[in-house]
Amino acid sequence: MSHNCRNLLIRCMDFRLRGEVMCWIEKSGLFEGGFDVISLAGASKNLADGSDEIRDFFLQQVSISTDLHHTERVIIFHHSNCGAYGKEYSFDSKEEEKTKQLEDMDKAKNILLKKYPQLEVILAYGELQDECGEKINFEIVEK
Ligand SMILES: [Zn+2]
Repeated sequence: MSHNCRNLLIRCMDFRLRGEVMCWIEKSGLFEGGFDVISLAGASKNLADGSDEIRDFFLQQVSISTDLHHTERVIIFHHSNCGAYGKEYSFDSKEEEKTKQLEDMDKAKNILLKKYPQLEVILAYGELQDECGEKINFEIVEK
């Protein structure tokens, strides 16, 4: 019996996202066909700006998903008020944080496509409406 899944979700480890992200996964229809998860602080940030070792480790995880489960699509999900970004940058506004994160997501997308040109990569962003992440506005930034 094969155990394939269509999607790979790259998301932040942040516990505040759990409930809302689960709802989004259910409702968005993006995750039909199942999904693997890579969950790291800052999601694809380490792929965009990590050391060679960290980048290799990250890509190794992606390879396991594509080789073992024949993943066809990667969904890179970032969110506002992210601790991994807050630790490194001080943003003057939500827009500024989003712009920086979108830049990294795009960079990560290009790194993935260079190694796995067969993949479809979708970028999604969640704007926390409160500090606790009880309400998040999800947006597909790029398909
Ligand atoms: Zn985060």
